[in-house]
Amino acid sequence: MNSVTDLKERLRDSKCVSVLTGAGVSAESGVPTFRGGGDSLVWKGMPFEKVSSAEMVAKDLDLLWEWFDYRRDSLKSCVPNSAHYALSKIESKIVNFTLITQNIDGLHQRAGTKAVYDIHGNINRMRCIGCEELFDLAFDAIPHSPTMCEKCGQKLRPDVVLFGEALPNGVFEIGSEAAERSEIFFVIGTTALVYPAAMLPEIARQNGSLLVEINPEETALTPVCDISIRSKAGAILPEIADF
Ligand code: NAD
Ligand code: ZN
Repeated sequence: MNSVTDLKERLRDSKCVSVLTGAGVSAESGVPTFRGGGDSLVWKGMPFEKVSSAEMVAKDLDLLWEWFDYRRDSLKSCVPNSAHYALSKIESKIVNFTLITQNIDGLHQRAGTKAVYDIHGNINRMRCIGCEELFDLAFDAIPHSPTMCEKCGQKLRPDVVLFGEALPNGVFEIGSEAAERSEIFFVIGTTALVYPAAMLPEIARQNGSLLVEINPEETALTPVCDISIRSKAGAILPEIADF
């Protein structure tokens, strides 16, 4: 028996499965990970932590939108990969499935997964700075439109957690409740270093869940995982989903 065979057996017997994904799950779609160069990006002479910061909303919302439209444009040609589709297949077979993603690219949703909680927001959504109403944006609608809230007339901003901002209300709680009740908790394509998302695997483990990591490289979480699969997510998840 190998770990994948064991895991498939456990999946057949499980009613509650949760997944935490990070930038690695979208790497095979051509979306750069942080360490793959995403963090060293400089745009118009500014490091992206600066332009993607909370203070930009008040200081220069037009510039913030220009940057996010540029990022949306560079994502336009990216499509979900076999990892996104395999997770969607796992969801269809599990009674209680929750996917928490740190990615903002919307690729899990485009692959058909329904229970997606994007804890860092979604680049294809806008939020009113006044009444907080959310508006979907088609991934290929670039530049974004409209710019004003149709409910209260105030400006719209990208619905993404910017540097210096807290997580949206309630999403961490949804993740931690899912982690608490999980029988299997997957950590896929994340270094699991960004808090509070990184607390979720620990919560799952403390509540008796099987902790499974899928990552071609070791991470800080590897020593506490029950199963660590050293593979690209897109290479192994279709096999796992076939349980
Ligand atoms: P990270 O870049 O720090 O880590 C990526 C991890 O994925 C690494 O551990 C790497 O070994 C692994 N990996 C690389 N290729 C993989 C593959 N094919 N299959 C499985 N794993 C693979 O990213 P992170 O942990 O998600 O955290 C950084 C932050 O970056 C998050 O807050 C996230 O919001 C943001 N981010 C998002 C995107 C996106 O939306 N796609 C892209 C870059 C960064
Ligand atoms: Zn509004």
